[in-house]
Amino acid sequence: MSASPPRILIVAPNWIGDALMAQPLFARLREKQPTARIDALAPPWVVPLLERMPEIDEVISAPFAHGALALAARWRLGRSLRGRAYDQAIVLPNSWKSALVPLFAGIGLRSGYVGEARYGLLSLRYRAPRRTIARQSMVEHYAQLSEPPGRAPPMPLPEPRLRVAPAAAEASARAFGFASSPAKNAVLCPGAEYGPAKRWPAEHYGELAAALAAQGVRVFLLGSANDAEICDAVVRASGGAARSVAGRTSLGEAIALIAAADFVVSNDSGLMHVAAGLDRPQVALFGSSSPEHTPPRSRRARVVWLRLECSPCFARVCPLGHFRCMTELTPARVLDELARLGVLGSPPSP
Ligand code: SF4
Repeated sequence: MSASPPRILIVAPNWIGDALMAQPLFARLREKQPTARIDALAPPWVVPLLERMPEIDEVISAPFAHGALALAARWRLGRSLRGRAYDQAIVLPNSWKSALVPLFAGIGLRSGYVGEARYGLLSLRYRAPRRTIARQSMVEHYAQLSEPPGRAPPMPLPEPRLRVAPAAAEASARAFGFASSPAKNAVLCPGAEYGPAKRWPAEHYGELAAALAAQGVRVFLLGSANDAEICDAVVRASGGAARSVAGRTSLGEAIALIAAADFVVSNDSGLMHVAAGLDRPQVALFGSSSPEHTPPRSRRARVVWLRLECSPCFARVCPLGHFRCMTELTPARVLDELARLGVLGSPPSP
């Protein structure tokens, strides 16, 4: 009698960017165990992303508010999963509460980083390297969980890739007013949930949008409802050259619009990782964070980072007050990078 394929439950990260940086882990698990059943448990705002990852069989929504303990609800959800008889849970968030559902679901092998002193909650524990300014890449951090503790995963790791049906991309592009070919559509993403130290100034985005519009590019500003204010500021700074759809799309529509875009310019944010996962030509702007820690994983991505002596500080707000890492990064430099990508006219000489 043949053994049944292993059943794995992944407790997914709570952030879109982190969920994409975990995708190489999912791909490694799939490579190692092609017949495994791999399900993911995720907060509702991450579900649409995981549904577009080919390595995941089913996504289960975990309806807990950000930061809520919700002990009784976690217990009920865990009990409801018992019948699925998972062999292993891999817990990606570091919090204590994120390890509760696998425990309540009766899953014997529960692996993850020790995080918030989760000694009793995890049965296979990993230790993260000490935090230094030169932080390990997040992709490698997650991929380590595909191997026993202490054994590095084989390199290179698979690239994250999202699956979007061309018809869905075309429908969203039509619904939100993308220009039809041969005219070009740019998506700019001026938000960054983490904090203002990751956001290129609205005036710079506005200047870039105006310069692109002058070359006949239709410019769209994309983000969540939390990004609507900065996107409105960009519209004003661009003199109306850009149009904002921030807060007016579902995550699924935002992913489809990025898939339909000719190119993307963003901060180091979740949508930057979405653009990389869709393999769109992109320019990624880094200020207080490090492209060594959270790079866009795509060969069509160009990173702009001034590498100031104070950078990366990983702060949410500039601790020095001058914010030179972003203010001194000019729109002309970004236009130059776009030209090097071949999405605007002819590339400049090296
Ligand atoms: S300290 Fe330096 S890297 Fe950090 S936000 Fe300020 S200018 Fe940027």
